[in-house]
Amino acid sequence: MDVLQVKNLYKKYKNTEVIKDISFNVKEGETLVILGPSGSGKSTILRCINNLEKIDGGNIIINNECMVKEYKNGKAIYNDKKILEKINLDTGMIFQDFNLFPHYTIKENITKALIYVLKNNEEEAEKKADNLLKKMNLIEKMDAYPCNLSGGQKQRASIARTLSLEPKIICMDEPTSSLDPELVGEVLKEIRKLAKEKRTMVIVTHEIKFAKEIADRIIFIDNGRIIEEGTAEEVINNPKKDRTKEFLARFV
Ligand code: ADP
Ligand code: MG
Repeated sequence: MDVLQVKNLYKKYKNTEVIKDISFNVKEGETLVILGPSGSGKSTILRCINNLEKIDGGNIIINNECMVKEYKNGKAIYNDKKILEKINLDTGMIFQDFNLFPHYTIKENITKALIYVLKNNEEEAEKKADNLLKKMNLIEKMDAYPCNLSGGQKQRASIARTLSLEPKIICMDEPTSSLDPELVGEVLKEIRKLAKEKRTMVIVTHEIKFAKEIADRIIFIDNGRIIEEGTAEEVINNPKKDRTKEFLARFV
């Protein structure tokens, strides 16, 4: 079953077209990796899926619910609030710069989200937070504030927070690119585990070796369009398009 369908996505900022006509589907349990040069539109796609940016054409369908109801005079009319809330709960986002609340401890970053977003009671929230912090190897750090953690610990805390809300689709926007090289491995290890657990994920990354290892499918985008798509074997090992070859050549 396709949990996510991106259909003819079109998006502009003022008069600049950023996403021109992008379509792809993600099946339940699948890991899709998006590759592409800087400025090609990768973050914008993830932001549109997470309803952090409005779209100007096409549609995004999550668990059979459409984000946009119809277009009137070329303008997207978004679906009813109740449906959008459901869609928003179905997606989670992990950002390059962690996006933790600086004035909350690591544990509070999780419990507050559970209490406000999922309306959990304090006890339920604490239990879930403890379990996830254990899973992410962060239990000793639960009372620390983000500023006192390493980048790798912050990103693992951010993954724990996203997981706590039990999204059907987890989006990650360059989750390791603001980390010191020696901290990249500990975060990739957790993402690898999520792929093994068959979570549905859409990951933007420049870690080509890692992409090859975890991607069920890869799309390579440039200038707001899909240039090439397929398995890692096809797109990374045997790229057909010059643009893809040129991009990958930078990583060997
Ligand atoms: P990527 O993540 O692949 O580097 P982005 O999706 O961030 O690319 O950006 C795609 C294009 O859209 C870039 O040219 C960028 O400058 C532009 N862009 C991104 N965000 C905004 C914004 N809020 N306002 C105007 N232009 C933007
Ligand atoms: Mg980006």
